[in-house]
Amino acid sequence: MSLTLHLDTEAWRAHMARVAAETPGLVPVAKGNGYGYGLPRLAAEAERLGADTLAVGISGEAATVRMAGWQNDIVVLTPWTPDDAALLADTLVVPTIGRLDDLHQLVTLRPDARIILEVMTSMRRHGLQTSELAEAVAIIDAAGATLEGFTIHLPMVAGGRLAEARQLADAALAVRRAPLWLSHLDADEYRELSASVGVPTRLRMGTKLWLGAPATRSVTARVLDVHRVERGERIGYWQRRMPRSGSVVVVSGGTANGIAMEAPTAAANPRQRLIAAATGSLEALGLSLSPYSINRRKRFFVEPPHMQSSLVFVPGGEDAGLAVGDEVPVEARLTTVTFDQIIG
Ligand SMILES: *Cc1c(COP(=O)(O)O)cnc(C)c1O
Repeated sequence: MSLTLHLDTEAWRAHMARVAAETPGLVPVAKGNGYGYGLPRLAAEAERLGADTLAVGISGEAATVRMAGWQNDIVVLTPWTPDDAALLADTLVVPTIGRLDDLHQLVTLRPDARIILEVMTSMRRHGLQTSELAEAVAIIDAAGATLEGFTIHLPMVAGGRLAEARQLADAALAVRRAPLWLSHLDADEYRELSASVGVPTRLRMGTKLWLGAPATRSVTARVLDVHRVERGERIGYWQRRMPRSGSVVVVSGGTANGIAMEAPTAAANPRQRLIAAATGSLEALGLSLSPYSINRRKRFFVEPPHMQSSLVFVPGGEDAGLAVGDEVPVEARLTTVTFDQIIG
């Protein structure tokens, strides 16, 4: 009945152990949909890896990984605001601060807070200007709070990234020597920076750690039903006419799983559409390609995905051998998909 993630658990864990071994100071990141595995699973895997700290995206996720059994430090990546006051009850939670106003409020509520100061980067997402860091450290000192370090969140593109990290690190460390928390440096860049800054470094990592070994996983959907349809017949919620005769295959996975209909791309302009129409392609007839493969070909959606299932079209007699209960491959982006089931 399910959209299923199949894991070769042993191979996946071997990959993660390799990454951890070559990344001293690794901080696994568990946020959002848990990179497809779910937050509780990631918390358990981080524990297996022996991580001393887990990073989560938003404050509610701290409670989720706690309930899943994570007992060590938790860093919350999205900067703290007074809306996150409840977070401070857990003394092993380390909030990130991106604005002086929020820092004042934080130390008022919890003078003994453990705090990471975020330094603004060329990302322009969150963070203090380097010119504000001295004041921030003074506020922390005056309250008797603990500075757990500075965080520098870098862009994915490599050009100038290491130089930027070094320059911001120098500015921060000139204010106070404290650990540096980094992301999105590659292994060499991280090693080089770690060797030169003279303070402990931590590297937060999600995608490369959890999703770095694609061969360790596969995604399938169950064939729930197969129906013969004739050209011109109206089917589905939207009762659209079938452009050809063939089979409608009902597969598991829908909007609730994050299965989405992508805009047609191959026939983007009118000329391409004319060519597509002349060659009789389904895309030219207004159908969108689905992530489901049947007989080794991606198939078109008959209509937008339903809540927990989708209708895809297999033209002509191509469905030979396809049976209810079969599992068919799905190309799923793990950061946007929620599985009904994980095996392994
Ligand atoms: C999400 C996030 C990460 C992890 O990003 P990946 O690309 O998944 O490794 C690291 N640092 C911060 C601040 C983040 O928000």
